[in-house]
Amino acid sequence: MLEIFLKKKYFYPNQYKKTIYDIDFNYLKKIGIEYILLDLDNTLVSYEETLPTEKLKNLIKKIKDLNLQVLIISNNREPRVKSFSKTINCDYIYSAKKPLKSGFRRALKKLDNPIPKSVCLIGDQFMTDVFGGKKMCFYVIVVNAIKRRTEKWYTKINRRMERKVLERLKKTDIDFYNKLHLEEKR
Ligand SMILES: [Mg+2]
Repeated sequence: MLEIFLKKKYFYPNQYKKTIYDIDFNYLKKIGIEYILLDLDNTLVSYEETLPTEKLKNLIKKIKDLNLQVLIISNNREPRVKSFSKTINCDYIYSAKKPLKSGFRRALKKLDNPIPKSVCLIGDQFMTDVFGGKKMCFYVIVVNAIKRRTEKWYTKINRRMERKVLERLKKTDIDFYNKLHLEEKR
């Protein structure tokens, strides 16, 4: 089981950025991405925030103006995900159970089943977002978590596993690890 988890290729994000505001969405468009799946907690806002910031609203508008379709995919419960997604006019999947495939499949269905290559997943966790997204063959971008302190207990468990995976990655593929330029201590 652990070996499956540690299969390196599933933990190779395509890009690492400090925040979602550092992502070049024009570039994503250029390489054929048409759909953007966004993790919510600690990717768009911290766990404590219930509303999007103005900066985030502007970014979402910019992404939509590029004709990229946006969908929020979160492991959090419906009330949180629903009310947040509504404020930025996005479709959403709640209780996604990332990294399992079922939530991603629900998302793809909502988007009329696009080819995985045209989908970019953006999230802050290796264990749920990167691992899940790569298993689906999506293009995956990992960002720093907005605020670690308020993470839930189950996220803390994921972080512990994440650290192990990254330590292993560092040992077995130092070039790739360095290429990630991870500035955040995970
Ligand atoms: Mg998250």
